[in-house]
Amino acid sequence: MIVKLRFIPLKVHLNHALIPRLQKNHPKIAIIEADTRKKMSGHKGEVNTDFHLQFFDDKNHLIFQGLRLPHPYHYFQIDTIILSTKFILLIETKNHPGSIKLDENQFSQITEHGEKGYTNPLLQVQRHKEQLQDWLDVHHFSKVPIITLVVLSNSSAIIQTNDPRIHRKICKIDKLKTQIIKLTSPYTEERMTNKELKKVSKYLLKEDTPLFPTVSNSYRILPSDLQKGIICPSCLSLAMVRKNKVWLCPHCLFHAKNAHQNALLDYFLLIKSSITNKEFRDFLGISSTKTASNLLSTLKLPAAGTNKGRIYYCPNDFISQLEHRYQLEKQKTKA
Ligand SMILES: [Zn+2]
Repeated sequence: MIVKLRFIPLKVHLNHALIPRLQKNHPKIAIIEADTRKKMSGHKGEVNTDFHLQFFDDKNHLIFQGLRLPHPYHYFQIDTIILSTKFILLIETKNHPGSIKLDENQFSQITEHGEKGYTNPLLQVQRHKEQLQDWLDVHHFSKVPIITLVVLSNSSAIIQTNDPRIHRKICKIDKLKTQIIKLTSPYTEERMTNKELKKVSKYLLKEDTPLFPTVSNSYRILPSDLQKGIICPSCLSLAMVRKNKVWLCPHCLFHAKNAHQNALLDYFLLIKSSITNKEFRDFLGISSTKTASNLLSTLKLPAAGTNKGRIYYCPNDFISQLEHRYQLEKQKTKA
């Protein structure tokens, strides 16, 4: 049973909101686009792993497609967790193409451009295992065997190793099912009750804390470098104006009723997670306080304070709204 669905990396949403708000010749655009491609390639690999895990999708196995959990000094992020009453399986996905050379310590990719080293996913998943064990101990859950596996999701990847033990810890995507059955079948003893399993699942969902990247930390771009306004969905110019209760583009005459919603999603992604009436007017280019107030109240955002001191917060379903917007834009570019 899938308990937590995977979503598009938040960095990709950030980048998609960021690029149209930079000057066309901004020097960071190439870096941002390369970063988006890298993130989407990793995501594609994880989705491929999800697809090959469908055989596990029954009521005895709880699947979490990506979690970020607290640990005393930092958070740790696991690509896939599968919970059962007999074991916990952690899967780390790598989507590198080409030859993958590895031993206990080294992990490198060999392509026509040469050899490139990466963080060793075998060590990474081992560290996640220790961190998850600490997390389970903190919450006083029963000891359950934690099994780890690294999967190479790119079908063109070739594993190169002289260490036969490595093949127990890493496999190619087409061998994922066989490998999981081999690794998990020795664990036949029930270590948790179904009730406890549900409790662990509830705690994992409660403590999952997605990381919202910022423009300044990611690319050293200041919020003041961003162009304000509402982007025209048709010609992409940043000039929509409010006329007769609709947003009108003076360049292509496209009009839209709810164009402010997209601009507000951009604001929460690119600037900060709360907004006042004044900040809303400033970012969207609205002159009337009353119009801004009406628009904000129809969005039913969580809010605190009254009158001029009222602060509106990022919606609770922010990530779902971003996903929805991403899918719509993707459909539009396909059409
Ligand atoms: Zn337009």
